[in-house]
Amino acid sequence: MEKQDLLYEGKSKTVYATNNPELLIVAYQEEKGAVNNRVSNEVMRMLERKGVPTHLVRQLSDRETVVRRVRMIPLEIIVRNVVAGTLSTLIGQPEGTRLRSPVLEYRYKAAALGNPMINRFHVFALELCTPEILEEIDRLAFRINKILRQLLLEADIRLIDCKLEFGCLPDGTVVLADEISPDTSRLWDAKTGRKLGKDRFRRDLSDTTEAYQEILDRLGRIHCE
Ligand code: ADP
Ligand code: MG
Repeated sequence: MEKQDLLYEGKSKTVYATNNPELLIVAYQEEKGAVNNRVSNEVMRMLERKGVPTHLVRQLSDRETVVRRVRMIPLEIIVRNVVAGTLSTLIGQPEGTRLRSPVLEYRYKAAALGNPMINRFHVFALELCTPEILEEIDRLAFRINKILRQLLLEADIRLIDCKLEFGCLPDGTVVLADEISPDTSRLWDAKTGRKLGKDRFRRDLSDTTEAYQEILDRLGRIHCE
């Protein structure tokens, strides 16, 4: 696998072309990136085993992973199980309130606009994807949420919410892409409520990397059992 031109430099990852036009290398930038890389790959492998298609090919090194190149759909799909973050302000309910059923939110991936929340009518009006693709995204997002909730609970972790991104393979298949990691999920200890995922560094709490490492360790343990 040969790393070639830098294609994109994002907030947390850098994307490179490779000698194979169907494959890309994603490189995580920061120190905590090594844990995000491993957690994301571990989670995607578990999802693949449950029949969810993902872009994962293989981990190349600590911070680098080979993925299938997809046409990204410029949406962030937020799946929520418990009220936290912006939803708390939006609906005026305290953080930690359990939602009776999972909530999906769409964010338009447009950094200059601050990734605003939009609804499906905006998605179609802006032609971000077809109704068929959005339907598939919804289905996969709920399925992923269900699998992850269950899986994390075995590691004594509550999945509060997570952010997903999807893309299309050349044949049109919708696959989970980007990352699922502590940086993109709210994860609370199931017994103590201690925050282990992204609200850790969002609030500038210290020892982010250690908390992330703990998630990785716990995932490894349920794996061995
Ligand atoms: P951003 O700041 O835009 O969120 P990141 O730092 O997360 O960017 O870098 C990853 C970029 O690569 C994102 O723009 C994401 O949409 C894109 N990406 C992720 N997976 C794939 C893939 N399989 N194929 C093509 N692009 C991808
Ligand atoms: Mg990103």
